[in-house]
Amino acid sequence: MTDIDWANLKFSYTPTDYNVRCYFRNGKWGAIEVSSSEYINLHMAASCLHYGQNGWEGQKAFRCPDGKIRTFRLEENAARLQSTCRAMMMPEVPTELFTEMCLKAIKLNERFVPPYETGAALYIRPIVLGTGAQLGVSPTDEYLIIIFVTPVGPYFKGGFSATNYVITREFDRAAPQGTGKYKVGGNYGASLRAHVKAAKEGYSCEFYLDPRTKKYIEECGAANFIAVKGNKYITPESDSILPSITNKSLQQLALDMGMEVECRKIPVEELETFEEAGACGTAAVISPIGYIDDPENGKRYTFSKDGQPGPVFQKLYNRLRDIQYGIEPDVHHWVTVID
Ligand SMILES: *Cc1c(COP(=O)(O)O)cnc(C)c1O
Repeated sequence: MTDIDWANLKFSYTPTDYNVRCYFRNGKWGAIEVSSSEYINLHMAASCLHYGQNGWEGQKAFRCPDGKIRTFRLEENAARLQSTCRAMMMPEVPTELFTEMCLKAIKLNERFVPPYETGAALYIRPIVLGTGAQLGVSPTDEYLIIIFVTPVGPYFKGGFSATNYVITREFDRAAPQGTGKYKVGGNYGASLRAHVKAAKEGYSCEFYLDPRTKKYIEECGAANFIAVKGNKYITPESDSILPSITNKSLQQLALDMGMEVECRKIPVEELETFEEAGACGTAAVISPIGYIDDPENGKRYTFSKDGQPGPVFQKLYNRLRDIQYGIEPDVHHWVTVID
Protein backbone atom coordinates (compact mmCIF):
# COMPACT_ATOMS: atom_id res chain seq x y z
CA MET A 1 0.00 0.00 0.00
CA THR A 2 0.94 3.62 -0.20
CA ASP A 3 0.21 6.63 1.97
CA ILE A 4 -0.96 8.66 -1.03
CA ASP A 5 -3.97 10.90 -0.46
CA TRP A 6 -5.80 9.74 -3.60
CA ALA A 7 -8.60 12.25 -3.19
CA ASN A 8 -6.24 15.21 -3.47
CA LEU A 9 -4.02 14.08 -6.32
CA LYS A 10 -3.60 16.59 -9.12
CA PHE A 11 -2.24 16.19 -12.62
CA SER A 12 1.32 16.33 -11.36
CA TYR A 13 4.28 14.04 -10.84
CA THR A 14 4.29 11.66 -7.88
CA PRO A 15 7.25 9.26 -7.64
CA THR A 16 6.52 5.54 -8.08
CA ASP A 17 8.75 2.48 -7.58
CA TYR A 18 10.02 1.68 -11.06
CA ASN A 19 10.26 2.84 -14.66
CA VAL A 20 11.15 0.72 -17.68
CA ARG A 21 13.69 1.58 -20.35
CA CYS A 22 14.97 0.26 -23.63
CA TYR A 23 17.94 1.48 -25.66
CA PHE A 24 18.31 1.51 -29.43
CA ARG A 25 21.97 0.93 -30.29
CA ASN A 26 23.78 -0.51 -33.32
CA GLY A 27 20.60 -0.42 -35.34
CA LYS A 28 18.35 -2.35 -32.96
CA TRP A 29 16.26 -2.13 -29.79
CA GLY A 30 17.84 -3.99 -26.86
CA ALA A 31 16.37 -5.73 -23.82
CA ILE A 32 13.79 -4.09 -21.54
CA GLU A 33 15.46 -2.76 -18.40
CA VAL A 34 13.80 -1.96 -15.10
CA SER A 35 15.07 1.03 -13.16
CA SER A 36 14.25 2.55 -9.79
CA SER A 37 16.08 5.77 -10.59
CA GLU A 38 14.11 8.86 -11.60
CA TYR A 39 17.13 10.18 -13.47
CA ILE A 40 18.80 9.43 -16.77
CA ASN A 41 22.47 9.72 -17.55
CA LEU A 42 22.53 11.69 -20.77
CA HIS A 43 25.32 12.97 -23.00
CA MET A 44 25.35 16.76 -23.06
CA ALA A 45 25.35 16.71 -26.87
CA ALA A 46 22.32 14.35 -27.09
CA SER A 47 20.13 15.25 -30.06
CA CYS A 48 16.98 15.41 -27.91
CA LEU A 49 18.45 18.31 -25.95
CA HIS A 50 19.68 20.51 -28.79
CA TYR A 51 17.54 19.63 -31.74
CA GLY A 52 14.35 18.45 -30.07
CA GLN A 53 14.63 14.94 -31.45
CA ASN A 54 12.01 13.38 -29.20
CA GLY A 55 8.42 12.20 -29.01
CA TRP A 56 6.04 11.10 -26.30
CA GLU A 57 2.67 9.57 -25.50
CA GLY A 58 0.11 9.73 -22.73
CA GLN A 59 -2.50 7.19 -21.65
CA LYS A 60 -4.09 5.86 -18.47
CA ALA A 61 -4.66 2.63 -16.55
CA PHE A 62 -7.77 2.31 -14.37
CA ARG A 63 -8.66 0.28 -11.31
CA CYS A 64 -12.14 -1.02 -12.13
CA PRO A 65 -15.18 -1.95 -10.03
CA ASP A 66 -14.36 -5.66 -10.56
CA GLY A 67 -10.94 -5.06 -8.97
CA LYS A 68 -9.02 -5.53 -12.23
CA ILE A 69 -6.76 -2.98 -13.91
CA ARG A 70 -7.59 -1.96 -17.48
CA THR A 71 -5.79 0.10 -20.10
CA PHE A 72 -7.42 1.77 -23.07
CA ARG A 73 -6.37 1.47 -26.74
CA LEU A 74 -2.66 0.89 -26.10
CA GLU A 75 -2.15 -0.19 -29.73
CA GLU A 76 -3.40 3.21 -30.88
CA ASN A 77 -0.82 4.93 -28.70
CA ALA A 78 1.83 2.60 -30.13
CA ALA A 79 0.77 3.46 -33.69
CA ARG A 80 0.75 7.20 -32.98
CA LEU A 81 4.20 7.01 -31.39
CA GLN A 82 5.43 5.17 -34.50
CA SER A 83 4.10 7.98 -36.66
CA THR A 84 5.90 10.50 -34.42
CA CYS A 85 9.12 8.47 -34.67
CA ARG A 86 8.93 8.45 -38.49
CA ALA A 87 8.35 12.21 -38.54
CA MET A 88 11.31 12.88 -36.25
CA MET A 89 13.64 10.44 -38.04
CA MET A 90 13.79 8.17 -34.98
CA PRO A 91 13.54 4.36 -35.13
CA GLU A 92 9.96 3.15 -34.65
CA VAL A 93 9.18 1.47 -31.36
CA PRO A 94 7.49 -1.82 -32.33
CA THR A 95 3.94 -2.27 -30.97
CA GLU A 96 4.89 -5.45 -29.06
CA LEU A 97 7.81 -3.71 -27.36
CA PHE A 98 5.67 -0.68 -26.52
CA THR A 99 2.82 -2.77 -25.08
CA GLU A 100 5.14 -5.05 -23.12
CA MET A 101 6.88 -2.04 -21.59
CA CYS A 102 3.59 -0.34 -20.68
CA LEU A 103 2.17 -3.46 -19.05
CA LYS A 104 5.42 -4.05 -17.17
CA ALA A 105 5.50 -0.47 -15.89
CA ILE A 106 1.90 -0.78 -14.67
CA LYS A 107 2.39 -4.16 -12.99
CA LEU A 108 5.59 -3.13 -11.24
CA ASN A 109 3.79 -0.09 -9.83
CA GLU A 110 0.47 -1.76 -9.14
CA ARG A 111 0.26 -0.27 -5.65
CA PHE A 112 0.08 3.18 -7.25
CA VAL A 113 -3.04 2.43 -9.30
CA PRO A 114 -5.66 4.49 -7.46
CA PRO A 115 -8.82 2.79 -6.13
CA TYR A 116 -11.86 2.97 -8.43
CA GLU A 117 -13.95 5.08 -6.07
CA THR A 118 -11.44 7.95 -6.08
CA GLY A 119 -11.88 8.69 -9.79
CA ALA A 120 -8.07 8.93 -9.98
CA ALA A 121 -5.99 6.87 -12.45
CA LEU A 122 -2.45 5.79 -13.22
CA TYR A 123 -1.06 8.01 -15.96
CA ILE A 124 1.44 6.36 -18.32
CA ARG A 125 4.06 8.53 -19.97
CA PRO A 126 6.25 6.96 -22.68
CA ILE A 127 9.01 9.19 -24.03
CA VAL A 128 11.50 8.53 -26.84
CA LEU A 129 14.74 10.50 -26.85
CA GLY A 130 17.61 10.87 -29.28
CA THR A 131 20.53 10.13 -26.95
CA GLY A 132 23.49 9.96 -29.35
CA ALA A 133 25.99 12.85 -29.24
CA GLN A 134 25.16 14.92 -32.29
CA LEU A 135 26.67 18.26 -33.21
CA GLY A 136 25.56 18.62 -36.82
CA VAL A 137 21.83 18.88 -37.42
CA SER A 138 21.00 15.36 -38.53
CA PRO A 139 19.38 12.30 -36.93
CA THR A 140 21.55 10.60 -34.33
CA ASP A 141 22.17 6.85 -33.99
CA GLU A 142 21.24 6.12 -30.37
CA TYR A 143 17.81 6.36 -28.79
CA LEU A 144 16.11 5.59 -25.52
CA ILE A 145 12.48 4.90 -24.72
CA ILE A 146 11.46 5.31 -21.09
CA ILE A 147 8.02 4.56 -19.75
CA PHE A 148 7.16 5.93 -16.35
CA VAL A 149 3.84 5.98 -14.55
CA THR A 150 2.41 8.33 -11.96
CA PRO A 151 -0.95 8.45 -10.21
CA VAL A 152 -3.08 11.45 -11.21
CA GLY A 153 -6.29 12.82 -9.79
CA PRO A 154 -9.62 13.07 -11.58
CA TYR A 155 -9.68 16.03 -13.94
CA PHE A 156 -12.85 17.34 -12.38
CA LYS A 157 -13.21 16.84 -8.65
CA GLY A 158 -16.84 16.43 -7.65
CA GLY A 159 -18.32 16.54 -11.14
CA PHE A 160 -17.73 18.59 -14.26
CA SER A 161 -16.82 22.23 -14.43
CA ALA A 162 -16.64 24.12 -17.70
CA THR A 163 -13.41 25.73 -18.87
CA ASN A 164 -13.06 29.02 -20.72
CA TYR A 165 -10.79 29.69 -23.68
CA VAL A 166 -9.38 32.67 -25.52
CA ILE A 167 -8.60 32.62 -29.23
CA THR A 168 -4.97 33.48 -29.91
CA ARG A 169 -3.96 34.98 -33.24
CA GLU A 170 -0.59 36.10 -31.97
CA PHE A 171 1.00 32.67 -31.56
CA ASP A 172 0.78 29.28 -33.29
CA ARG A 173 1.67 25.97 -31.69
CA ALA A 174 2.74 24.44 -35.01
CA ALA A 175 3.20 25.30 -38.71
CA PRO A 176 0.75 24.24 -41.45
CA GLN A 177 2.97 21.42 -42.74
CA GLY A 178 5.01 21.16 -39.55
CA THR A 179 4.88 18.89 -36.52
CA GLY A 180 1.41 19.73 -35.13
CA LYS A 181 0.05 16.26 -35.76
CA TYR A 182 2.87 14.59 -33.86
CA LYS A 183 3.42 14.45 -30.11
CA VAL A 184 6.84 16.09 -30.10
CA GLY A 185 8.26 18.22 -27.30
CA GLY A 186 8.81 21.26 -29.50
CA ASN A 187 5.07 21.83 -30.03
CA TYR A 188 4.55 22.14 -26.31
CA GLY A 189 7.56 24.37 -25.76
CA ALA A 190 6.15 26.55 -28.55
CA SER A 191 2.73 26.71 -26.85
CA LEU A 192 3.94 27.97 -23.47
CA ARG A 193 3.86 31.69 -24.31
CA ALA A 194 0.27 31.58 -25.52
CA HIS A 195 -0.67 29.42 -22.55
CA VAL A 196 0.86 31.67 -19.91
CA LYS A 197 -0.65 34.76 -21.55
CA ALA A 198 -4.12 33.19 -21.59
CA ALA A 199 -3.77 32.11 -17.96
CA LYS A 200 -2.70 35.63 -16.93
CA GLU A 201 -5.84 36.96 -18.58
CA GLY A 202 -7.96 34.59 -16.49
CA TYR A 203 -8.65 31.82 -19.02
CA SER A 204 -8.05 28.12 -18.48
CA CYS A 205 -6.35 27.79 -21.81
CA GLU A 206 -5.55 29.28 -25.23
CA PHE A 207 -7.57 28.32 -28.31
CA TYR A 208 -5.79 27.90 -31.65
CA LEU A 209 -6.92 28.71 -35.18
CA ASP A 210 -5.37 27.15 -38.28
CA PRO A 211 -1.85 28.55 -38.64
CA ARG A 212 -2.17 29.29 -42.38
CA THR A 213 -5.29 31.43 -42.61
CA LYS A 214 -6.52 31.90 -39.01
CA LYS A 215 -10.04 31.31 -40.32
CA TYR A 216 -10.69 27.82 -39.05
CA ILE A 217 -10.83 26.21 -35.64
CA GLU A 218 -7.82 24.12 -34.71
CA GLU A 219 -7.27 22.99 -31.10
CA CYS A 220 -8.17 23.78 -27.50
CA GLY A 221 -4.67 24.10 -26.06
CA ALA A 222 -3.46 20.49 -25.89
CA ALA A 223 -6.90 18.95 -26.48
CA ASN A 224 -9.07 18.39 -29.57
CA PHE A 225 -12.17 20.49 -30.21
CA ILE A 226 -15.52 18.71 -30.55
CA ALA A 227 -19.03 20.09 -31.03
CA VAL A 228 -22.62 18.97 -31.39
CA LYS A 229 -25.19 20.43 -33.75
CA GLY A 230 -28.48 18.57 -34.06
CA ASN A 231 -27.65 14.93 -34.73
CA LYS A 232 -24.08 15.76 -35.80
CA TYR A 233 -20.79 15.27 -34.00
CA ILE A 234 -18.42 17.81 -35.54
CA THR A 235 -14.64 18.06 -35.17
CA PRO A 236 -12.03 20.02 -37.15
CA GLU A 237 -9.91 18.51 -39.90
CA SER A 238 -6.40 19.92 -40.35
CA ASP A 239 -2.81 18.87 -41.04
CA SER A 240 -1.61 20.46 -37.82
CA ILE A 241 -4.00 18.92 -35.28
CA LEU A 242 -2.85 16.10 -33.02
CA PRO A 243 -5.01 13.03 -33.77
CA SER A 244 -6.62 12.40 -30.38
CA ILE A 245 -7.42 8.78 -29.56
CA THR A 246 -10.22 9.98 -27.27
CA ASN A 247 -11.75 11.90 -30.19
CA LYS A 248 -11.44 8.86 -32.45
CA SER A 249 -13.19 6.72 -29.82
CA LEU A 250 -15.95 9.29 -29.22
CA GLN A 251 -16.55 9.45 -32.99
CA GLN A 252 -17.12 5.69 -33.01
CA LEU A 253 -19.49 5.92 -30.03
CA ALA A 254 -21.37 8.79 -31.72
CA LEU A 255 -21.82 6.60 -34.80
CA ASP A 256 -22.97 3.73 -32.56
CA MET A 257 -25.58 6.13 -31.11
CA GLY A 258 -26.87 6.87 -34.61
CA MET A 259 -25.22 10.28 -34.95
CA GLU A 260 -23.51 11.60 -38.05
CA VAL A 261 -19.81 12.40 -37.71
CA GLU A 262 -18.32 15.34 -39.61
CA CYS A 263 -14.56 15.81 -39.67
CA ARG A 264 -14.06 18.99 -41.68
CA LYS A 265 -12.89 22.59 -41.68
CA ILE A 266 -14.87 24.66 -39.17
CA PRO A 267 -14.94 28.44 -39.72
CA VAL A 268 -14.63 30.41 -36.45
CA GLU A 269 -18.07 32.02 -36.98
CA GLU A 270 -19.68 28.58 -36.97
CA LEU A 271 -19.06 28.50 -33.20
CA GLU A 272 -22.25 30.56 -32.97
CA THR A 273 -24.32 27.59 -34.18
CA PHE A 274 -23.11 24.79 -31.89
CA GLU A 275 -25.35 23.44 -29.14
CA GLU A 276 -22.51 21.78 -27.27
CA ALA A 277 -18.76 22.39 -27.43
CA GLY A 278 -15.98 20.67 -25.59
CA ALA A 279 -12.32 19.72 -25.41
CA CYS A 280 -11.39 16.06 -25.51
CA GLY A 281 -8.32 14.06 -24.53
CA THR A 282 -7.02 11.41 -22.15
CA ALA A 283 -6.88 13.83 -19.21
CA ALA A 284 -10.61 14.58 -18.93
CA VAL A 285 -12.22 12.51 -21.73
CA ILE A 286 -14.57 15.45 -22.43
CA SER A 287 -14.36 18.79 -20.72
CA PRO A 288 -17.27 21.11 -21.44
CA ILE A 289 -16.39 24.57 -22.76
CA GLY A 290 -18.00 27.44 -20.86
CA TYR A 291 -17.19 30.13 -23.38
CA ILE A 292 -14.61 31.00 -26.02
CA ASP A 293 -13.60 34.66 -26.26
CA ASP A 294 -12.39 36.25 -29.49
CA PRO A 295 -11.07 39.57 -28.14
CA GLU A 296 -9.91 40.85 -31.54
CA ASN A 297 -13.46 40.66 -32.82
CA GLY A 298 -15.11 41.55 -29.51
CA LYS A 299 -17.02 38.27 -29.46
CA ARG A 300 -17.89 35.70 -26.83
CA TYR A 301 -19.29 32.31 -27.83
CA THR A 302 -21.07 30.75 -24.85
CA PHE A 303 -21.83 27.03 -24.59
CA SER A 304 -22.28 26.09 -20.94
CA LYS A 305 -23.55 28.53 -18.34
CA ASP A 306 -23.79 26.05 -15.46
CA GLY A 307 -20.44 24.30 -16.03
CA GLN A 308 -22.21 21.11 -17.11
CA PRO A 309 -21.81 19.24 -20.40
CA GLY A 310 -24.85 19.05 -22.70
CA PRO A 311 -26.91 15.84 -22.95
CA VAL A 312 -24.98 14.38 -25.92
CA PHE A 313 -21.56 14.90 -24.33
CA GLN A 314 -22.85 13.53 -21.04
CA LYS A 315 -23.99 10.37 -22.79
CA LEU A 316 -20.76 9.97 -24.79
CA TYR A 317 -18.71 10.57 -21.67
CA ASN A 318 -20.62 7.94 -19.67
CA ARG A 319 -20.30 5.38 -22.47
CA LEU A 320 -16.56 5.86 -22.83
CA ARG A 321 -15.91 5.74 -19.07
CA ASP A 322 -18.08 2.62 -18.70
CA ILE A 323 -16.03 0.86 -21.36
CA GLN A 324 -12.76 1.96 -19.73
CA TYR A 325 -13.99 0.65 -16.36
CA GLY A 326 -15.22 -2.67 -17.74
CA ILE A 327 -18.83 -1.80 -16.83
CA GLU A 328 -20.04 -1.89 -20.46
CA PRO A 329 -19.05 -4.67 -22.88
CA ASP A 330 -15.91 -3.81 -24.85
CA VAL A 331 -17.46 -4.39 -28.30
CA HIS A 332 -14.71 -2.52 -30.18
CA HIS A 333 -11.85 -4.36 -28.41
CA TRP A 334 -10.34 -1.19 -26.96
CA VAL A 335 -9.46 -2.47 -23.52
CA THR A 336 -6.59 -4.60 -22.18
CA VAL A 337 -7.22 -6.32 -18.86
CA ILE A 338 -4.10 -6.68 -16.74
CA ASP A 339 -3.92 -9.86 -14.71
C1 LIG B 1 -2.29 14.34 -26.57
C2 LIG B 1 -3.00 15.45 -27.23
C3 LIG B 1 -4.38 15.42 -27.48
C4 LIG B 1 -5.29 14.34 -26.96
O1 LIG B 1 -5.00 13.07 -27.43
P1 LIG B 1 -5.57 11.78 -26.66
O2 LIG B 1 -4.99 10.64 -27.41
O3 LIG B 1 -7.05 11.83 -26.76
O4 LIG B 1 -5.11 11.89 -25.25
C5 LIG B 1 -4.94 16.47 -28.20
N1 LIG B 1 -4.20 17.51 -28.62
C6 LIG B 1 -2.88 17.59 -28.38
C7 LIG B 1 -2.11 18.76 -28.88
C8 LIG B 1 -2.24 16.57 -27.66
O5 LIG B 1 -0.94 16.64 -27.39
